[in-house]
Amino acid sequence: MNAPVITIPQANPGAGYRALQAEIDAAVARALASGWYILGGEGRAFEGEYAAWLGTARAVGCANGTDALALALRALGIGPGSAVATVSHTAVATVAAIEMVGATPVLIDIDPAHYTMDPVELAAVLDRPPAGLPPIRAVIPVHLYGQAADLAPIMAACTAHGVAVIEDCSQAHGATLDGRKLGTFTEISCFSLYPTKNLGALGDGGVVATHDDALATRVAALRQYGWHTHYISDEVGVNSRLDEIQAAVLRVKLAHLDAQNARRQAIAAAYDYALMGGALKPPARRAGAAHVFHQYVLRAADRTGLQARLRAEGIGTGIHYPMPVHLQPAYRGRVAMGPARCAQTERASAEVLSLPMFPELTDEQVAQVCAALRRL
Ligand SMILES: *Cc1c(COP(=O)(O)O)cnc(C)c1O
Repeated sequence: MNAPVITIPQANPGAGYRALQAEIDAAVARALASGWYILGGEGRAFEGEYAAWLGTARAVGCANGTDALALALRALGIGPGSAVATVSHTAVATVAAIEMVGATPVLIDIDPAHYTMDPVELAAVLDRPPAGLPPIRAVIPVHLYGQAADLAPIMAACTAHGVAVIEDCSQAHGATLDGRKLGTFTEISCFSLYPTKNLGALGDGGVVATHDDALATRVAALRQYGWHTHYISDEVGVNSRLDEIQAAVLRVKLAHLDAQNARRQAIAAAYDYALMGGALKPPARRAGAAHVFHQYVLRAADRTGLQARLRAEGIGTGIHYPMPVHLQPAYRGRVAMGPARCAQTERASAEVLSLPMFPELTDEQVAQVCAALRRL
């Protein structure tokens, strides 16, 4: 028997382009005609528009979300001789960025209802760090799937220990907690602009946002060889720039982001309704949080069966993520963990399944997914 054809993909960045094609093509043509391709007017305009939309003093573009995290860590002076706490239930990029700057990751388990950092275990680890670990100087909570991590207790524990907090907002552009946008709670925050993210370039991109002008200036220097003045490296930096074509595309997409997040929320509400009374529970919403549904994630003991039943109806699904970072070959056996040993993380990674979720899903496609959910 042939594998059933997927008619409703789980993600569809091409549809995101086509929905805005005329505007994007005009913006790209403008960038091409300008004759200036790296760190020019489009990039500056995007940075200003992003900071204004987010509500920070500054936003600094860079090459990708991994670099955004590494630049933020370096701007805070975190490198060799420091440990950084984060989660194992995340894109591997979060942990890779910590090691890129020479720091040592320590992985905290998740709260299984919201899939984000367990603040109780974090506080325990800050009180009594694992033996042999350098001092913990920063914590990176990840706002996973489009919803806030439990920031209040995380930030309280970090403040008590004099530890910096860097929000990883790569899946949460536009999400709020108590009415305030994620990425504005801490001194510095990071966003990926990978094509499938809620705000996605048509290529790679990233943003570091901060309320602190001096910190932004430092990030802007670090992303270009440590230059504060052209051709003069005051410190050792890297090359991690956002190019003008991507910046022009992102300016178009940013103007549509709030509407697209609202569309994601409407799709999520339809899925919630279809699941009512069934065995599978809709994703939990944190009190006070507005979820922007980068992913709509179900949890099933028989995930393989669920995935096959949806596939038989032409519905694509994804797994975010099938293997926690601490079990991946490059990391296994060598990354420090808190006392919970990431037990909830391992359980979640075996059971999570992401439904189709992107703003260009048609009403008919959403209805098809809902009908399939009701038949489960
Ligand atoms: C996508 C993502 C990143 C990394 O972004 P890149 O742009 O691919 O480098 C980091 N953290 C999280 C949580 C992500 O989802």
